[in-house]
Amino acid sequence: MRRDDSVSPRSVLEIRGLNLDFGTPRGRVHALRNVSFDLPAGQVVGIVGESGSGKSTLAYTVMGLLPDNAEVTAGSILFEGKDLLKMRAPARRSLLGDRLSMIFQDPMTALNPVRTIGSHMIDIQHHEQVSRGEKRARALEMLHRVGIPDPESRVGAYPHHFSGGMRQRVCIAMALLVKPALLVADEPTTALDATLEVQIIHLLKQLQKEIGCSILFVSHHLGAVAELCDRVVIMYAGEVVEEGSVRDIFHNPAHPYTRALLECDPGRIKKSTRTLPSIPGEVPSLLGTKLGCIFRSRCPQAFDRCVQENPVEHRIGLDQVARCHLLDEKRLVSA
Ligand code: ATP
Ligand code: SF4
Repeated sequence: MRRDDSVSPRSVLEIRGLNLDFGTPRGRVHALRNVSFDLPAGQVVGIVGESGSGKSTLAYTVMGLLPDNAEVTAGSILFEGKDLLKMRAPARRSLLGDRLSMIFQDPMTALNPVRTIGSHMIDIQHHEQVSRGEKRARALEMLHRVGIPDPESRVGAYPHHFSGGMRQRVCIAMALLVKPALLVADEPTTALDATLEVQIIHLLKQLQKEIGCSILFVSHHLGAVAELCDRVVIMYAGEVVEEGSVRDIFHNPAHPYTRALLECDPGRIKKSTRTLPSIPGEVPSLLGTKLGCIFRSRCPQAFDRCVQENPVEHRIGLDQVARCHLLDEKRLVSA
């Protein structure tokens, strides 16, 4: 939850007013607009939203792995109190694979096909002042922890010798071997079947508790988010529209977009159906400036004010915030 603008020692990550554009031949795509939230130390925060809502862009911005056409135009990303966006490139690079780790949707993004799993796992420990033998022993222990059978005999194998699920386990082992303060996981289970997804989520949860790191977990799978996360940030068209604890978001959603997302979740649909529901309409173009609520063209509750004014953040209870004029109207009615 966003508390105030001072540095909170209890948050490992504090994102404030983040704006990011992509330059394209059609104009500037405003992929992140005024994004603000905190990731409390030792917690897992899920980033949820439809395709194109800016989830991956946010994850890659935190990691500093953006393409050349991306430009952060405003905001800050405080990691352990230091603004990553103001850090010099070498200092920022040295955080990667040390205090900051990432798991990608496609494990091959992180694995070099012509190098053995063992050499990946030894190299990832380049910050550690211990012998190669000790690094190898740690690698074997971690491979064992993530459920790779007989790690001693598999450590010399190449990535293509492993199944997709096993490759993702190896990537989790690599990412956590360095005991990061923050693990960014971008759709790490999307390419896996449902059974493997459950196994990987349980594994991540267990290791996160053991290591005590925080996780920024990007996913469009609400079931996985409910299982793994402490808090949820709902994104729509580059904006954070709602944020709260898993319990509040799943049981008491305040924003019409969050409610629509939950209604379309296959895990929550009770009656049998051949076609899965989707939210009517499309995510709007992110080109140009937008007046009014970004969700208004698809919102069943939109009213005049939604066309004219951008909604501001409203607090619901202690721990939940949402950007919707309805919350303001309710307040006025009940005042
Ligand atoms: P998905 O679930 O499909 O991965 P997402 O929520 O992660 O979607 P992003 O991939 O972050 O969304 O994309 C956000 C917006 O930024 C989209 O409109 C996308 O087309 C645009 N975008 C992403 N990368 C680029 C790029 N390199 N150049 C131009 N536009 C981009
Ligand atoms: Fe819907 Fe208006 Fe609320 Fe936006 S501000 S979510 S359009 S009711």
